[in-house]
Amino acid sequence: MTISVPADVLSRLKAVLGEGGWSQDPERLAPKLLEWRDRWYGTTPFLALPRTTAEVAAVVGICAEAGAAITPQGGNTGLVGGQIPQGEILLSTERMRTIRDVAPFDDVIVAEAGCTLAAVHEAALEHGRRFPLNLASEGTCTIGGTVSTNAGGTAVLRYGTMRDLVLGLEAVLPNGEVWNGLKRLRKDNTGYDLKQLLIGAEGTLGVVTAASLKLFPVLISRATAVAGVDDPQAAIRLLARAKEEAGGAVEAFELMGRRGVDFALKNIAGMRDPLAEIHPWYVLVEIASGEPGAAEAAMERLLARALEDGLVRDAAIAQTEAQAKAFWGVRENQSPAQKPEGATWKHDISVPVSRVADFLDRATAAMEAFAPGCRVAAFGHVGDGNIHYDVLRPDGGDDAAHSARRDEGSRIVHDIVAELGGSISAEHGLGAMKTHDAERYKSAVELEALRAIRRTLDPKRIMNPRVLF
Ligand SMILES: Cc1cc2nc3c(=O)[nH]c(=O)nc-3n(C[C@H](O)[C@H](O)[C@H](O)COP(=O)(O)OP(=O)(O)OC[C@H]3O[C@@H](n4cnc5c(N)ncnc54)[C@H](O)[C@@H]3O)c2cc1C
Repeated sequence: MTISVPADVLSRLKAVLGEGGWSQDPERLAPKLLEWRDRWYGTTPFLALPRTTAEVAAVVGICAEAGAAITPQGGNTGLVGGQIPQGEILLSTERMRTIRDVAPFDDVIVAEAGCTLAAVHEAALEHGRRFPLNLASEGTCTIGGTVSTNAGGTAVLRYGTMRDLVLGLEAVLPNGEVWNGLKRLRKDNTGYDLKQLLIGAEGTLGVVTAASLKLFPVLISRATAVAGVDDPQAAIRLLARAKEEAGGAVEAFELMGRRGVDFALKNIAGMRDPLAEIHPWYVLVEIASGEPGAAEAAMERLLARALEDGLVRDAAIAQTEAQAKAFWGVRENQSPAQKPEGATWKHDISVPVSRVADFLDRATAAMEAFAPGCRVAAFGHVGDGNIHYDVLRPDGGDDAAHSARRDEGSRIVHDIVAELGGSISAEHGLGAMKTHDAERYKSAVELEALRAIRRTLDPKRIMNPRVLF
């Protein structure tokens, strides 16, 4: 799609943004036009780099008047291509990095959209608090991006997704007006909730400029373990037991298939096999508590019983922080470790937790029939029913031939997900990649209601026009 922007619009944007507030330099633009998986390459006539909410409002206002389209971008770690412009003006939040406030008595942090997730973690810790959204991309992804994709990650089991962690937002709406909704309230039952519309809107309903976020106490007792299990059904049974044993203290419950562990050992420097023997599936469990020793004791009870009755074949509890990091390293490198293995059909699906094993059996049988020799690597946040289900080309196979069958193969996987009552995007969003797929699974009634909301807020469809409905 080519979208041309009139020269007078560009000169007005330059005037409001001032020196350092914009760029048309190809070298400066290049890293913002290629996404992490090298799958999307974009173009833009203009990079806007506002530093304040007022500057964002001026940019959006000028574009709204002229009908010029905008793609917002934070850390450019999104995995569905929504942040990569295809001719639109690119609005980056990279200069909006102020932590506006940390309020321990309210358990709230107020951060601007361009703050990285890691910077918010650090600022919270400096005040003896914790912000519990954990993603492997935390050093780069931003608050604006995590709000706009309703990011999930590894602690959703306990704390929920970004949707559960946001108390208020400040945003520039598609007409250029600023909405200050930076509330700090735990209870606010006053009708429609505008912030929840903006969360997960992937930049289509405005530019998020700041967020007030919930903080939690730092937990002093933490236990991390890896367990080898025979199959995903055993993992699900272990999850149920972990919840019984530790109550609400299970922070993470992640599944990895052996193939993905092999890829990590082969393709990522410094990785170690988590257990002495090879197992078909691995679970990474983390329990955390505010009571000294409580997490460690719960983990020991859980694993001792599971080993005794054969639910778990082998297990190791991290004895040091370095060992816990090594366990997490294998999990967090599941996706990067696939890169050298060639073309992949990626899926980020969720089903009810009780149906994860059913999904894996059915999808893998279907993929082996559809693409003989393909290599399935499945891993993910099984505690949330969220599996990253990746289908790699056969070993030594042809990348182009595998990529050419992606749409057909993904359709089969997504149809199984739909039959099991699941979602074709658990946490990454739809972006440019999955919007059309999602239209297949949503009812006409829902699609029309969603389109009506967008038409009302953005009648000229200037905000991220290629994304969502
Ligand atoms: C190694 C790795 C691991 C990951 N792990 C996870 C994971 O466990 N869970 C998970 O949920 N995601 C994960 N992701 C995906 C990604 O990190 C998240 O989607 C993240 O929320 C994107 O944030 P960002 O700042 O990079 O946004 P971008 O990629 O820049 O943008 C993402 C979307 O948000 C929009 N957007 C960005 N900023 C704004 C704003 N201020 N206002 C309005 N719209 C905006 C963009 O237009 C785009 O549609 C992972 C990615 C990588 C590379």
